[in-house]
Amino acid sequence: MLSARAALGIGPGAGTLALVPTMGALHEGHRSLIRLAREHADHVAVSIFVNPLQFGPNEDFSRYPRTFDADLEVCAAEGVSLVFAPAAEEMYLPDRQVSVSSGQMGTIVEGSFRPGHFDGVLTVVLKLFNLVQPDTAVFGQKDAQQLAMIRRMVADLNVPVTVVGAPTVREPDGLALSSRNRYLSPADRVTALALSAALREGARHARPAEILRAAGAVLDEAAQAEPPLVLDYLSLVDPATFTAVGDDHQGEAILAVAARVGGTRLIDNVIVTLTH
Ligand code: AMP
Repeated sequence: MLSARAALGIGPGAGTLALVPTMGALHEGHRSLIRLAREHADHVAVSIFVNPLQFGPNEDFSRYPRTFDADLEVCAAEGVSLVFAPAAEEMYLPDRQVSVSSGQMGTIVEGSFRPGHFDGVLTVVLKLFNLVQPDTAVFGQKDAQQLAMIRRMVADLNVPVTVVGAPTVREPDGLALSSRNRYLSPADRVTALALSAALREGARHARPAEILRAAGAVLDEAAQAEPPLVLDYLSLVDPATFTAVGDDHQGEAILAVAARVGGTRLIDNVIVTLTH
């Protein structure tokens, strides 16, 4: 099979290629990744693939938004050189056996609520790397554990791709952009603002107990709203390992939250700096 690199005629010494993997339904967050990718390479490829492997049996795979024509327009407007949008049957052989294991790190925090999710993510990302053969790949900090797991895979499996993290793009009121935001009713959206508000409150503090208390208070209040916010987790973790940080931790940590509002599951996080 021809790699995307070969299809673009990027041979040795003929320029660099950055990949932005997405599941489509492209929004301003994806656009920011594409722009960052352009700063890192001569050509940008975007993959659009709603990966069945990373969805659990009771998750939203079948109703996940698919807006391919609009996505192609976004890619054209952003000067993307190549869009790779395979069908599921092209990506996965019916008799496939071998996949990537995300290890213990894939079973904690987000992984404890979505068994098998990170195995599915890492398997598709490694396949996309092999098919496209980019020099660089850009991922959003919005999915912080995904970014950490991809860095882990690249280190553990000596994958020859440079991983670049991109900051989270938000609505003016703080809501992190997500393809799933279109599921939110106007009332859901008001309740959903508690995720980013909680993270903001938490980030005003510098000690783990205070950070968690301040963020937790905002989420507790939203749990009484109509519709209520139903919390999956609020965790303060090491950015590289996603293990919980204790009071002795110095430097950066990630305050991560996941919650359901109406039928929609949302995640968000911020980087906080811990001092004693
Ligand atoms: P998705 O299409 O949701 O799988 O996301 C594709 C890429 O876009 C992932 O690397 C995400 O982390 C990133 N992304 C999603 N939402 C945002 C956002 N609001 N800001 C920045 N990057 C994002």
